[in-house]
Amino acid sequence: MNWFIITSTQCNLRCRYCMNEPHPDLPLRPAWDTQNLINFLSTDPSPTICFYGGEPLLEMDIIIEIMDNINATHYTLQTNGLLLNKLPTEYLTRFSTILVSIDGDKETTDINRGKGTFDRLLSNIKDIRSRGFNGDLIARMAISETSDIFKDVTYLIETEELSFNHVHWQLDVQWDEGIETRWEDFPDWMKSYNDGISELIFYWLENLEKGEIKGLVPFLGIFRHIINDRSTDLPCEAGLRSFAIRTDGEITFCPLPPEYDLSIVGNIETNTANELENAIGVGKTCLECEVYDLCGGRCLFAEKTKLWGDSGFDLVCETVKHLIGKLQSIRETVEELIDKGILNRDDFEYPEYNNTTEIIP
Ligand code: SF4
Ligand code: SF4
Repeated sequence: MNWFIITSTQCNLRCRYCMNEPHPDLPLRPAWDTQNLINFLSTDPSPTICFYGGEPLLEMDIIIEIMDNINATHYTLQTNGLLLNKLPTEYLTRFSTILVSIDGDKETTDINRGKGTFDRLLSNIKDIRSRGFNGDLIARMAISETSDIFKDVTYLIETEELSFNHVHWQLDVQWDEGIETRWEDFPDWMKSYNDGISELIFYWLENLEKGEIKGLVPFLGIFRHIINDRSTDLPCEAGLRSFAIRTDGEITFCPLPPEYDLSIVGNIETNTANELENAIGVGKTCLECEVYDLCGGRCLFAEKTKLWGDSGFDLVCETVKHLIGKLQSIRETVEELIDKGILNRDDFEYPEYNNTTEIIP
């Protein structure tokens, strides 16, 4: 199973999305006893551990203590990247995946995350590669009204010095009560986003025709099921096989956002890992949806809270249906490329483990 361990609720940035406001009722750093955490995780025979925050690297000692005591199948890290240069090499090289928050080129990233962020990220990425980090480096983008999905995604995957293996993006939607809190005109923006997705799929296909599979996570994560006639449940696995451990020891179905007690499903002192499996799943809205087999439910939190109401929820689903429809439309061409030996069917199998990319943006 996958475990997000929140090592800090603080952050050393103040991005436009969250404004660095730790929840007042949660400890800023873990209040749990490390031995209790180790005892709890030892009830999972093959844990995957993702360090998460706030900014997890602010509590580097806790990360090191956990890595010294737990033999996880995979370690992953979601970070803003500013402290990666401080992570000791012997621990850095044990990570299977590092997800770095970045939104596009220097201008786009610095507008959202603060002046100078992009340059520090670039320098730290070069540093971890030079120190031997050969794992999966993923650009993790937050898509907002200022994003140009085609331009930003192609920039991140094409810029060699950034050395990203994959790019993943998530829409900055349904975190607040009301569509208007962060968006001036979401329905209008959505049209340009859908156009950008169509353009991006065309770009992806052009590269497939040359035998190159560009590492665009939402495309790969959905297309692997299309090409193999498979179906999926919730891709992020929240509440099914993925959970978060808060700084107060409560276990939630996912790490976001901590102020909603509806997400609490257990506690590290009173539960075992295996008894939480399949604790909670998506409801009727998703189970009865015509694209459920390929979407699996975009986000458990969004489905449980519907902070934008039914109509706002449905609007976001239109982006999912557009994306799935466009990917289905290229299936035949890709099958021909596989038949000709230009592509290998197995190369679409990504991710191979829960690397905390939610697949559906
Ligand atoms: S498209 Fe929307 S309603 Fe349909 S399965 Fe996905 S999240 Fe659920
Ligand atoms: S997609 Fe939603 S439910 Fe899944 S991890 Fe992200 S916020 Fe949580």
